Amino acid sequence: MKLYNTLTRTIEDFKPLDENQVKIYTCGPTVYNFAHIGNLRMYIHEDILVKSLEYLGYNVKRVMNITDVGHLESDADDGEDKMLKGAKRENKTVWEISQFYTDAFFADIEKLNIKKADVIGKATDYINDYIEFIKVLENKGFTYVSNGNVYFDITKRDDYTKLSGMDLEQLKTASREDVTEDINKKNPQDFVLWFTKSKFENQAMKWDSPWGVGYPGWHLECSVISLKNLGEQMDIHCGGVDHIPVHHTNEIAQTESYTGKEWVKYWWHGEFLIDNEGKMSKSSGEFLTLSLLERKGFDPLSYRYFILNSHYRKQLAFSFDSLKSAENAYFKLKSRIKAINQNKENQQISDNVNKYKIDFKECLEDDLNTANAITVLYDILKDDDLNNNEKIYLAEDFDRVLSLDLLKFKEDKNDDVHEDEVKYIEEMILKRQNAKKEKNFQLADSIRAQLLENGIALEDTRQGVNWKKIK
Ligand code: AMP
Ligand code: ZN
Repeated sequence: MKLYNTLTRTIEDFKPLDENQVKIYTCGPTVYNFAHIGNLRMYIHEDILVKSLEYLGYNVKRVMNITDVGHLESDADDGEDKMLKGAKRENKTVWEISQFYTDAFFADIEKLNIKKADVIGKATDYINDYIEFIKVLENKGFTYVSNGNVYFDITKRDDYTKLSGMDLEQLKTASREDVTEDINKKNPQDFVLWFTKSKFENQAMKWDSPWGVGYPGWHLECSVISLKNLGEQMDIHCGGVDHIPVHHTNEIAQTESYTGKEWVKYWWHGEFLIDNEGKMSKSSGEFLTLSLLERKGFDPLSYRYFILNSHYRKQLAFSFDSLKSAENAYFKLKSRIKAINQNKENQQISDNVNKYKIDFKECLEDDLNTANAITVLYDILKDDDLNNNEKIYLAEDFDRVLSLDLLKFKEDKNDDVHEDEVKYIEEMILKRQNAKKEKNFQLADSIRAQLLENGIALEDTRQGVNWKKIK
């Protein structure tokens, strides 16, 4: 398996620390609002990473956190407290907000066939562990207290910028709009480990600590939750590219100061989903959630299909038109598989399937090239040397990774189609047949696409054209 490693900026051969278990950590959601479809893009790619490793025969242990405390709007200890913001907006307590949006997150990932992490740690369940962790850093001389808050002193680490490759000297001179100087900090990049003084006097989540009543800094949770559940070293740490310069950089600084060892072997970062205004966010533009896509009539798995046709290290532009084309292609794919499945007999599965299994594996091994992996699936469907049984066998096998429910077919809904609609469908089929006779394939295809847009899939068989309602 070849994977891009942000730490070395190269594509590397993946070799686990322990052959028996691959350890993965993925930064989880901040539960102050619904996840937007950009966040969900990341979790889909991470799901593919885990399932690809499993497909290749590895046993994977994956840990994820749920951020329910300490995350300010800017990752660098600045801006509003995200949980408080959610609570204010909805006139609820922070605890209610966190429960509600955690449930919403799990509902979303289930609809997208994303497997839950093996261990899910809520940030607020590890408070005592953060305190113990900070005490160790304090004893080792990595911290200082300023105006009541405990800070990590980044000058204590020569390798602070190893992940991002940032030039701190240059940052000092450049005027940066995103960092408002915190006068308590010795260096602009120092970060809070424990807040006792913050501008949020009404902070509802507070705990006692040796430094006073307060709450943990945001970066702590990923270090501590992973140390507790994966040990002092792990194979892969995942997250979005936005986390490279601050969050992951700070996670490394504090964890490696705590253990004295290199922490993560491969840093995996996913690129952004962008909308026509640029970076997708929860506060500006149309707030695109999975429920919104559903309300507009999309199947959540069409979104998964859309994402799988992109590479995780490339930005992807979202538009409803491109989602619609992805949905059409996805429904068409499913109806082809359905037709093959209906016509399969008990034919033998021969060695013919092996070539395709290897092709599929090679796509995954090529830094998770899911778009090519899907192309292999299309190649199978049109290969006349494969019998239907073999085609279904392979589709089912690939779906262990793709998770597109390729062999789950919705109930036949033709019974509830209104008579007028049947008439319309049959007229369209006739028009398409005529177009084909006249070799006007463009028109024939557009009729098929138009029907598909209305939830009607056509299947060409030797006996004629069948149609099915698919949503
Ligand atoms: P958050 O809930 O804000 O902590 O973000 C959860 C995950 O989504 C993080 O790994 C972010 O890097 C990632 N993320 C945020 N915005 C986007 C976006 N527009 N596209 C893809 N991933 C994103
Ligand atoms: Zn994290």
